[in-house]
Amino acid sequence: MRDDRIRYPLSRWWGWGDLSKTYPLQGRPSFLPFLKESLDRSSFEPLPQPSMDAIPVSDPRINPAVLSEIASVVGEDGLSITREDRLRHAAGRSYRDLLAIRLGTVAHLPDVVVFPQAEQEVAAIIALASRYHLSVIPVGGGTSVVGGIEPAAPLPNGSISLNLMRMNRILDVNEQDLTVRAECGIPGPQLEEALNTRGLTLGHFPESFEFSTLGGWMASASSGQDSTLYGDMADMVLGLRIVCPTGVIETPPFPAHAQGPDLKRLFLGSEGTLGVMTHATLRAQPRPRRTGWVSFLFRDFHAGTEATRKIIQAGLRPAVIRLSDGWETQMALALAPAPHSVWLKTISRMGFSFLLRKGFAEYRRALITLGFEGSSKLVEVQRGEARGIGRRSGGFCLGGMPGRLWNRGRFEQPYLRDELMNMGLLVDTMETIVRWADLERLYRSVRGTVLRTMEDLGTRGMVLAHLSHPYPSGSGVYFILICPMLRGSENDQWRQLKDAATSAILQSGGALSHHHGIGLDHAPWMVQCLGKPYLDLLRKLKMAVDPYNIMNPGKLLPGLGQMPNDPEGNH
Ligand SMILES: Cc1cc2nc3c(=O)[nH]c(=O)nc-3n(C[C@H](O)[C@H](O)[C@H](O)COP(=O)(O)OP(=O)(O)OC[C@H]3O[C@@H](n4cnc5c(N)ncnc54)[C@H](O)[C@@H]3O)c2cc1C
Repeated sequence: MRDDRIRYPLSRWWGWGDLSKTYPLQGRPSFLPFLKESLDRSSFEPLPQPSMDAIPVSDPRINPAVLSEIASVVGEDGLSITREDRLRHAAGRSYRDLLAIRLGTVAHLPDVVVFPQAEQEVAAIIALASRYHLSVIPVGGGTSVVGGIEPAAPLPNGSISLNLMRMNRILDVNEQDLTVRAECGIPGPQLEEALNTRGLTLGHFPESFEFSTLGGWMASASSGQDSTLYGDMADMVLGLRIVCPTGVIETPPFPAHAQGPDLKRLFLGSEGTLGVMTHATLRAQPRPRRTGWVSFLFRDFHAGTEATRKIIQAGLRPAVIRLSDGWETQMALALAPAPHSVWLKTISRMGFSFLLRKGFAEYRRALITLGFEGSSKLVEVQRGEARGIGRRSGGFCLGGMPGRLWNRGRFEQPYLRDELMNMGLLVDTMETIVRWADLERLYRSVRGTVLRTMEDLGTRGMVLAHLSHPYPSGSGVYFILICPMLRGSENDQWRQLKDAATSAILQSGGALSHHHGIGLDHAPWMVQCLGKPYLDLLRKLKMAVDPYNIMNPGKLLPGLGQMPNDPEGNH
């Protein structure tokens, strides 16, 4: 029996998340005026939500005899060539994806979607695909924001989307070793709940947590919002199993070993181009007894950045650390619900005018939120130290309320993107990691370049940024771009902004990605970033396990699949 709840927890096929949820803008009286003023528009040109029937879809190009062979592996119910299933696997959840869905310009659909339930079925499908030269695209939650799950181009013999969400079992929880072994298609909430019932946590909470899967996290080298304490996905995986076209490889689940180079690191971040990861053993941690929040307001982003660096270099390890720049802070305030009473309204007005008098100017003041976890003692000691650093760095302490409010809505922001797209706005995100020494230059360069490009294209926009995932030697930086869509050339507009922002990131010493990965969208810059010898070796390693290049071709490695829009001519 088909079970769409297992296959499609992400039920809003044209946007984010659960169809029953939205991000209501009513009751947030400051937001629309803020948006209109920032974008210099008195009104917006809405972009309608799409209808599935309006999207042109070509017929699947798979030989019926091959379909029967696939059915003999996974059962008649384990594959689909319906328009809906193929469309749902044709795009991830980036702005570019959602735009293509809304405009009805989804470029390529998989020819068949297959839903295996066990590793043997995955292996049999990969063997079959090798025999018939079909491409195989592993799909977890489908939340990729880099073009990770769309077919790169219509491949001559057809493509299979391998939806892994039926492989969602917990195989073992070892409370002595603090480990969990699970299948790759398990979504975040299911994995976390299984650990929580035993007093444990994985501590991996990407913003896409509710809909993304273990396999997707590993394949994209993901990083969660609590990474400063719990580590990135690459720190959490002890060992994994991967089905490659040449056979199954298992990496040992030791916490560390010196049995030669650790191949696990090769597979983490491989984005389905080497094989399908089926199981993994992960490090779990005791569930924290307490979370303590503290927030500071700094006069500008620079002061906040310095405080963040000092906090991390002092050895403090908040689970959450997030410093918003002046624009992101302003937008967060604009999104705040109206105060419920006259009394609250008066207090908040007095508070804001006090801050203005003290030099915390609008659009410059930067909010940092820190969330410490662990025993009460640990939380208090760390929070006390952080308060000291915050004050010495010129910050104004706002207490725990901003952090608690952020935590309550931590998975809600992606729903706002749908609302903004409904209004005809381009909303894209870019992220990178950079050394502390280069951070300020990168921040200014990306903001300046993107705003100039928006203006050159004839729109006024805004760039918001925050700093998260800080390490002792550098930090992640996340940008949000918002401007009115250029109707009739929406894709071109996106491409020009993406190129401009990526070039600015790379020229300022940033990485192509800290946690979203490469996919189709970033592949053209891989040679420029990593150099030819590096990529040649990666290609040879891929060809060693995937000699016919059937695994997610075109992603990650330029030159091995048909690449759209390669600005560097890297083929
Ligand atoms: C609103 C939003 C917020 C996000 N926030 C974060 C964030 O905070 N942190 C973060 O790291 N990312 C974030 N992302 C990006 C995305 O959620 C992550 O990349 C996530 O890890 C993808 O998981 P998934 O299960 O959806 O994978 P998918 O999107 O299905 O696949 C991603 C890639 O992994 C491959 N893949 C999937 N499963 C397997 C497998 N078992 N074996 C081999 N390859 C596989 C796919 O082929 C593809 O290349 C966000 C995305 C959105 C839309």
